[in-house]
Amino acid sequence: MDDCVFCRIAKGELPCEKVYDDGKFVAFLDISPVNLGHTLVVPKEHYETLLDMPADLVADMSQALKLVASMVKNGTKAEGFNLMMNNYEAAGQVVPHAHMHIVPRFKGDGLKNWQGKKADKDDLSSVKEDIVSFMQI
Ligand code: 5GP
Ligand code: ZN
Repeated sequence: MDDCVFCRIAKGELPCEKVYDDGKFVAFLDISPVNLGHTLVVPKEHYETLLDMPADLVADMSQALKLVASMVKNGTKAEGFNLMMNNYEAAGQVVPHAHMHIVPRFKGDGLKNWQGKKADKDDLSSVKEDIVSFMQI
C-alpha cells in the first residue's frame, strides 16, 4: 500500500533502525519505545490485522518472533519481555499494518501489565459458549 508507513519502511522508502530481515518479515525499533529496544516485527506484505494474514504467514511470523525476541532480550540484557499485538482500533491499533511488539522488560522498570478482575461464573460460562460456537477446524 502506497500510503502505509510500514509498507514504506519494509520497501526501504522510509528509514528505520532495522535489526532483522528475512525476506518475508522485517524487524525494526519502535520510534516511541516503551523501553529502549522495543522492536516491531512486521510482515513485508500488507495485511491489516492478524485475522487478515494467511495461516502459513502467521506460522512463519512465530519463527521470526522467537528469533528476534531472543536477539532483543540478549541485546538489551533484558530480564524478560512482553509480546503484544494490537488488532483493530478498539484494541489500540494505530498503524493499520499487522505487527507484533517485542518489549524488553526489567525488574522494577515501572511498566504496568494489565490486570484482570474476577468474573461472574455464569458470565464466564456464557462467553465460553459464544466463543466455542465460532470454532472452525
Ligand atoms: P500500534 O498501536 O499500531 O500497535 O503501534 C504502532 C507502533 O508503531 C507505535 O508503538 C509507534 O510508536 C510505532 N510507529 C509509528 N510510526 C512509526 C514509524 O514511522 N517508525 C517507527 N520505527 N515506528 C513507528
Ligand atoms: Zn502496509
